[in-house]
Amino acid sequence: MMNAEIIKTLEDCGIKPTPMRMLVLEQLSVLQRPLSLAELESLLHPADRVTIYRTLQTFAKRGLVHSAESSANGAVYALCADGCRADGHRHDHPHFECEVCKQITCTDDFAYTVSRKNEASQYRLVSAEVLLKGLCPQCNTR
Ligand SMILES: [Zn+2]
Ligand SMILES: [Zn+2]
Ligand SMILES: [Zn+2]
Repeated sequence: MMNAEIIKTLEDCGIKPTPMRMLVLEQLSVLQRPLSLAELESLLHPADRVTIYRTLQTFAKRGLVHSAESSANGAVYALCADGCRADGHRHDHPHFECEVCKQITCTDDFAYTVSRKNEASQYRLVSAEVLLKGLCPQCNTR
């Protein structure tokens, strides 16, 4: 992504483009995979961890990124596809964690549905997160 595109993407999401926000978005779009806070911290060294964290929270609130819980590295952050906005996320893809390289990926290769089994259930479902585990394409062909 060029600088102009990065600024436009941020502005389209209602986010004021600061240098830090531009850097975080650039890393996520260049690497095209979910990144943990620790990874972003080392990529953006010497940027402050708290600032990076706040940037990610702002992005998440604005529908630009979503997070997933990996079992290996804690929370990872990934860019949302079109369709997510400040009023809510609309992505419904599962996340896949490779048991060999520990890489987490967003994938549309699998679908899942969560349906209510108990009609009398008092739970109000807001979102569902699914973490699939196995071998990623690279590790599977090794
Ligand atoms: Zn989203
Ligand atoms: Zn792998
Ligand atoms: Zn994802």
